Amino acid sequence: MTPHIVVLGSTNMDLVAYVERAPRRGETVTGRAFRTFPGGKGANQAVAAARAGATVSMIGAVGTDGFGGRLRAALEHSGVDTDLLRTVEGASGTAHIVVDDEGGNAIVVVPGANAALTGLTHGDEALITCADLLLLQLETPLDGVLAAARYARDHGVRTVLTPAPAQSLPPELLDAVDLLVANEHEAAALTGATDPRTAAHKLLDQVPDVVVTLGAEGCLYATRGAEPVTVPAPRVTAVDTTGAGDTFVGALAAALGEGRPLPSALAWASSAAALSVGRPGAAASMPYRTEIDAEAE
Ligand code: ADP
Repeated sequence: MTPHIVVLGSTNMDLVAYVERAPRRGETVTGRAFRTFPGGKGANQAVAAARAGATVSMIGAVGTDGFGGRLRAALEHSGVDTDLLRTVEGASGTAHIVVDDEGGNAIVVVPGANAALTGLTHGDEALITCADLLLLQLETPLDGVLAAARYARDHGVRTVLTPAPAQSLPPELLDAVDLLVANEHEAAALTGATDPRTAAHKLLDQVPDVVVTLGAEGCLYATRGAEPVTVPAPRVTAVDTTGAGDTFVGALAAALGEGRPLPSALAWASSAAALSVGRPGAAASMPYRTEIDAEAE
């Protein structure tokens, strides 16, 4: 059975300038190169889940500028259904990224059209009702994320939240979520605990299943009433870790939607994320199902 996954979240055009060093205030520097990449955490998770074999629908918003059409086309190219991706008057979401020669970066995100996602339409509700799984992140307004999480809970649809960008959250959102997948920084921002085990333990008060991703160390899985377990990541030479977390969540969603138990879904998602860090690009490096199956053997 092919699972149906609904993603409510952001679509951004990533505008990347490559420079020797980032400019200081008032300064102009000459960059080496400029590239644009379709991105946004919502769209990235949608692409990752579609490539991992799920049927994916995206609830989001793009602008009427030139980026809007490209963002929509990029999703469709990966097989994501965009029937409920709105087009709203004005600019699309953009991420303005400066990458220096040491690989460090500075980023300004301008939400643009993403700011329009403050609630659900009847069409969104009908789509969520029929879904096997709902994926949420925090790059779109909290009101819309909360409305979706509550609607899904009331209709028995399993919800997975990535609490990024890192921030503290209203308890009513965590209460409506079935599985939280946070990296170490996000887990610390939610709980005030820098130790991932302590953070996971605290989060279990509100969410029944918690995963804290640990980069090359893999991830920590905690569920109520059991000792947390570490799922190791396959060893790879990291080329570009951008989008590792989104690849992980997209593949995890596809596996959970197929009915796999969490520990086995986490191992499969770790294989997917490892493949993506071994290759350049965020969405461009996301693996397809056959590649993940081969890596996971
Ligand atoms: P984020 O990308 O959100 O910061 P992480 O860095 O924790 O999140 O990475 C998410 C997942 O990607 C990890 O749990 C792991 O499975 C995989 N991953 C990240 N970095 C590496 C790496 N260097 N080698 C292998 N797997 C990695």
